Amino acid sequence: MELKLYDTLTREKRAFRPLDPARVRMYVCGPTVYDFAHIGNARPVIVFDVLFRLLRHRYGAGHVTYVRNITDVDDKINARAAEEYPSLPLNEAIRIVTEKTERQFHDDVDALGCLRPTVEPRATEHVDEMKALIEKLVAAGHAYVAEGHVLFSVPSMPDYGRLSNRSLEEMEAGARVEVAPYKKDAKDFVLWKPSKPGEPAWPSPCGIAAPGRPGWHIECSAMSWKHLGEMFDIHGGGIDLVFPHHENEIAQSRCSFHTPVMANFWMHNGFLQVEGEKMSKSLGNFFTIRELLADWPGEVLRFNMLRTHYRQPIDWTLNGVAESFNTLEALTADPGFASSKVEAIAPSVLEALSDDLNTPKAIAELHALHGKGDMAALNTTLRALGFSQRPQSRRRVDAQKVSALIDARLAARKAKNFKEADRLRDELHAMGIELEDKRDGTTAWKVKA
Ligand SMILES: [Zn+2]
Repeated sequence: MELKLYDTLTREKRAFRPLDPARVRMYVCGPTVYDFAHIGNARPVIVFDVLFRLLRHRYGAGHVTYVRNITDVDDKINARAAEEYPSLPLNEAIRIVTEKTERQFHDDVDALGCLRPTVEPRATEHVDEMKALIEKLVAAGHAYVAEGHVLFSVPSMPDYGRLSNRSLEEMEAGARVEVAPYKKDAKDFVLWKPSKPGEPAWPSPCGIAAPGRPGWHIECSAMSWKHLGEMFDIHGGGIDLVFPHHENEIAQSRCSFHTPVMANFWMHNGFLQVEGEKMSKSLGNFFTIRELLADWPGEVLRFNMLRTHYRQPIDWTLNGVAESFNTLEALTADPGFASSKVEAIAPSVLEALSDDLNTPKAIAELHALHGKGDMAALNTTLRALGFSQRPQSRRRVDAQKVSALIDARLAARKAKNFKEADRLRDELHAMGIELEDKRDGTTAWKVKA
């Protein structure tokens, strides 16, 4: 049974053949560590964990190298560190913030049933590799020095833009907004820049006297090179990273090594919405993984994520999570599940996953195993997919929140906004709350049995 994967670069689903079956290599862009990761950040972590498990199953656990970086140099980190620890030197504050956030991230994704990657390199530990790449690019005429910056020259790469399939005109329109005076071309992007006073700084490459720091894109080219080589099998990330981040990674790596591709397969997971809207703090629908874990078992969140195919946009709803809870509870009901420690993927599920990681189909096959009463296969497959325990804790009920939602629903009904009233009723149902509308216009509620 062949493994087929969709490649964003060539826009086709095709058979996966590793460059070296004894060492299958995958790189996925990891978190920028300054705050709790949100549920949108969890999507690539869960999706590529399933792929990691599938590759380990097919090629052997010892033959798959999965690299996911930690971005620990970034303006957002500097700002957060200065805000949280104003009395400390910035470098010390940054270290505290990045180490704390990295621990939180690990705790969160461990709870989601994700294996740790083989290597988790930190950007600040790979500045030498970044500088080596920058020197190579300047020597080859693909980059230039200007006012303490080093810039990649986009016109020097004739097929720049293939991954995102953008025309040069489109990119020019996008880049024209505010063109820095030191850029030869509006599309050129930063490989290295001067550090502001107090910011993290390293000795600069290319004979630049003032210390500086790397741009964002170069770190992934450097870390993938160090840990996976000049070309590797799979590069993954969220679809929002296609342009400019991944386009620029490709430009840097291919022009440094004169290779036809950076990775043979480029895989991108779709966007995540919450209750039909873009997740944003101002809309009040912004959830961190940590907040959701306070209410739901991690395996339920994992299961809910996998009900949608990774390339499709996902609409994350409370109703959906509640359904996932019930489904997973039913699938793990067999007493043998708890005691079975064996991990093995049933052939029908393997076939679904081997078709570009078709997890909705795989879940349908889990139901089929359940329906047939093939509990041994169901139990070992669930374990192999990262489900190690039956969802235990019911969501705790926040009575204050329930009252507030009921009040809002009554107000909506009074205003004859029945759509909103129904939405609020659904939200309460998803929390496991049953409503009873009384004749006197009030609403009673109880927790569903
Ligand atoms: Zn990256």
